[in-house]
Amino acid sequence: MINEIMKALRFENNLLKLAEIAKPNAGSEALIRVTKTGICNTDLEIVRGYAGFSGTIGHEFVGIVEESDDKTWVGKRVVGEINAGCGACEKCLQGDSRHCPMRTVLGIHGRDGAHAEFLTLPAHNLLEVPANVADEQAVFVEPLAAAFGITEQVEISENTRVAVIGDGKLGILCAFALSLKSRNLALVGKHREKLCVVQKRNIEGILLSDAVPALNRSFDVVVEASGSESGFATALDLLKPRGKLVLKSTFQGSTNLEMWRVVVDEMTIVGSRCGKFAPALELLEKGLVNVEDLISEEFPLEKGVQAMARAAEKGVMKVLLSIRN
Ligand SMILES: [Zn+2]
Ligand SMILES: [Zn+2]
Repeated sequence: MINEIMKALRFENNLLKLAEIAKPNAGSEALIRVTKTGICNTDLEIVRGYAGFSGTIGHEFVGIVEESDDKTWVGKRVVGEINAGCGACEKCLQGDSRHCPMRTVLGIHGRDGAHAEFLTLPAHNLLEVPANVADEQAVFVEPLAAAFGITEQVEISENTRVAVIGDGKLGILCAFALSLKSRNLALVGKHREKLCVVQKRNIEGILLSDAVPALNRSFDVVVEASGSESGFATALDLLKPRGKLVLKSTFQGSTNLEMWRVVVDEMTIVGSRCGKFAPALELLEKGLVNVEDLISEEFPLEKGVQAMARAAEKGVMKVLLSIRN
């Protein structure tokens, strides 16, 4: 039997390139023909050497199931949870493969990712995409789940005063998602034109220079999603005593967080990474989050290297890849 070949955007030997590799075998997993993917900041960080990952990058995708032991999946349009647990450890048995110490993560750790013509994932990671959710929206399920996942960790109610710091795509998604819980939320950022994205959806947008010091100590919850070191200091400025600081960006350097301020004001620091897919998919199905506001550009997979360069430019929001096969 001749191995079929497919195109994939790969990071190997410190080099990002479009490669031709063998189409994966489903084995005990589901084989998915990928139709669209989203480029995430994590992809950009991987090509800077984050996580030491080598292989096909990408984890935000939508596609059609081609093969699965469970035949009911075949032909369905799906998205998939990116963490694949061992299935046997304490975390997995509690249904939390996101924290399985043996997990592989699509396009991030130990598992080839989504910027390719095909990928495999365990069938139980898959969720069918409702007919009214377009491919362009479905690729946002993973980052939206990560944004909405904050509500799994920190209680946010109608009157909770929330600030999201950072007007990049992660910050805007957090603002969109959390504004469904709190009517008292503001996005704090440096770019007037990006603040407009949330303002036109009736969310308060505040220029950083107007926020500090005027709004110091006025927020119950501050979500740091700026991805820059200065975001941490701003977060501490904005928090009320006994406030909750949610760290959302996987900022890679070490930081000079003034820990004494956390102690004196008895703040709670919460790290937040992934969220559940089902609630995020439901938000899209109900039309509650306008993820399409975040799309900057779309490239074919063949121009993946160019697309990654574009995504890394300042001011560019979500770049999508379309895959025709
Ligand atoms: Zn992502
Ligand atoms: Zn496990």
